[in-house]
This record gives sequence, C-alpha cells and structure tokens, in this order.
Amino acid sequence: MVPDYKRRLERLRRRIEAAKIDALMVSEPNNIFYLSGSSGGYTGARVRLLIDSSESILVIDRRYYEETIRSAFADKIIPWTKSSFEELVGLVKGAAYQSLGFEASHITVKQFERLKREFEGIKLVGTSGLVEPLREVKDAYEIQKITKAAEIGDAAFQYILDFIKPGVTEIDISIELDYFMRKNGSEKSSFETIVASGVNSAVPHATPSGKKIEVGDFVKMDFGAVVGGYHSDMTRTVVVGKASKKQKQIYSLVKEAQETALSKVAPKVECQELDSIARELVGKKGYGEAFVHNLGHGVGLEVHEAPVLGKGSKDVLKSNMVITIEPGIYISNLGGVRIEDLVLVTKAGYKVLTHSTKELVVL
Ligand code: ZN
Ligand code: ZN
Repeated sequence: MVPDYKRRLERLRRRIEAAKIDALMVSEPNNIFYLSGSSGGYTGARVRLLIDSSESILVIDRRYYEETIRSAFADKIIPWTKSSFEELVGLVKGAAYQSLGFEASHITVKQFERLKREFEGIKLVGTSGLVEPLREVKDAYEIQKITKAAEIGDAAFQYILDFIKPGVTEIDISIELDYFMRKNGSEKSSFETIVASGVNSAVPHATPSGKKIEVGDFVKMDFGAVVGGYHSDMTRTVVVGKASKKQKQIYSLVKEAQETALSKVAPKVECQELDSIARELVGKKGYGEAFVHNLGHGVGLEVHEAPVLGKGSKDVLKSNMVITIEPGIYISNLGGVRIEDLVLVTKAGYKVLTHSTKELVVL
C-alpha cells in the first residue's frame, strides 16, 4: 500500500485557493512528509515543498537527493546546492506569483526577513493550519501504519512484564522497552519513554531515573513505536508485590473514567465533552484536582497533534481520526496511575488499537 499523495495535494489545493494565495511554501517537516513522502523532511534535513495550482516542487538537501528521487512524490525534485534560498528564489520569481503563502509558525525571523528582501513585489501571506487539518483524518495507509505501531507497543508491554522486578531501575525498564520496540520493527521511540515508579509516578511526565523498583510501587509506563513515520502511544500502570487498598481504589477509578470516556467515542462527539465526562467521574470521587492533564490528543506523524481532547477545545471527532484516551490521577508522596489507549474513530463508533489488558497487573 502506498500513500495517495495526489488526493492529499488535491485537498490542499482547494485550501490554498480558498486562502487566496498563488502558492504555498511548506517548511514543516511532517507536512512535507505528508504531502510528498520526502524522508529528507522526516530526518530533519533542509527541505521545502512549493505547491501551486498545477505543480508540487520539492527542493531538498543534496545529501538526500538520490534517496528522495527514488522514494518521494513531487512533480519536480531539485537538489538544494546553495547555502541559501537561491533555488527557491529562482522558482518563485520564475513562476511570477502575485502572492506566496508560508507557514507562519514554521519559519524563523531570519528566514522571513530574507523572504521579504527576495520577494519584493510579491505579497507574502503568513498562513497557519492549511495542511494540519488534512492530517487529522487518517487514510487507509496511515491507519495501517499506526495499527502496526500500536501492535509493537502491545508486544513491548507483554515483554516488559517479565522484566519488572524489585531492584531493576526505571532507566533499565525504559531501555528494555525501547530496545524491544526497535528490535521488533519500530523506527525509533515515539517519544522519550516514560517509566516512573513509586512516588515518582505522581509526576505525569517523569523522566526515568536510577531509582530501583521496590515492592509496593506503582510502575507507570508511557511509550510508543514509530512505523513509516507514524506513531503509537500507550500507557499502562502496574503494581509490584501487593497492591494496597488505596492503590486499588485509584486504579479502578482511572479505569472506570477511561472506559466510560472510551465508550462515548464516535463521530460528531465534541472533544471537550469527552474530557468532561472523564473529569466529572473522577471529580465526584474527590480526585478532580489530581487529574492534571487533558483526556487525550490526536496521534499521527506527530505523537501529539490535533484534535485536542481537553477543556475549551473546539474540536469535534470525525471518522478515521486516531486519538488517545488517557485519564490519570496523581497524588504526591503516593504515586500516580494513567491508562492510555490508542483509538481509531470509526463510522459506528470506535476501534481500540491497543489491546493490552487494563485489569490491574500485580507483578
Ligand atoms: Zn502516552
Ligand atoms: Zn498520549
């Protein structure tokens, strides 16, 4: 299966037209990858994609030129040989555009000054959110990649259960998770793997430390794989030794909030509504203050992308969005629990892509 770049470009061209610009210069690497498959953007090399009503032109760091010629989709692929914008400047001037859009959040002040100097007489228009909304709804190719990444995450969780025991450190566990995922088809870790145990688990996004796992610890692990540039994201929290009454109580509340919000996932549902369903449930039991982050987020070429499942979000779910549902409760000096699933919104409701158990695992 290959991505349908033509369709993606067609959809973008309608948006470029609506924005009343003759062409768009795309500089955000994930957007470039989405529209052309240029792995140069994906690896962070210098790359720009120029799209007008008839052509898409990729200007790419010459170190990646050969690879790009073989793998990327664009009407023209031009090696970026000069240290400056010269290739692009030539293209834009040659095309005689009246106006040129650029991604306002993704160029530097220095680059903007340069554009103004070079393109005197061309109307420069800072755009935002022209490409990103297209990426919110996934196509079949993207869903296949994300599903595969989620499978690797599930396998890693199953694997790590045997590894977690008193005496091993959080860092040990995070390295094992990363290594297992890389060995099993992940291109890199989706983000810095989070392993937080005991009191450290009260920090939602703790960095793994040299702390050794002790009997009675919660061990919270948040991790994901990357396949074809697409991310997965999941969190599971386990207990080592024996779970206390309080631990069981917190865990079952988070699980209830997670499953309740999950059961409401469907097209046309407001993202903020889902967040408040989970938050009210946790709040009623007196832990409202301890649920310190959003319920979830979109996942794709970036591990955190639109939509936002949180208070004040205007986003509404659509079929084929991929989102997380991840409530948590964090209590200082005691610990924290988060349960996170990766979820595909379907016409009929939803399909969970992460299959690891959500029952409290006691190791
Ligand atoms: Zn996560
Ligand atoms: Zn997440």
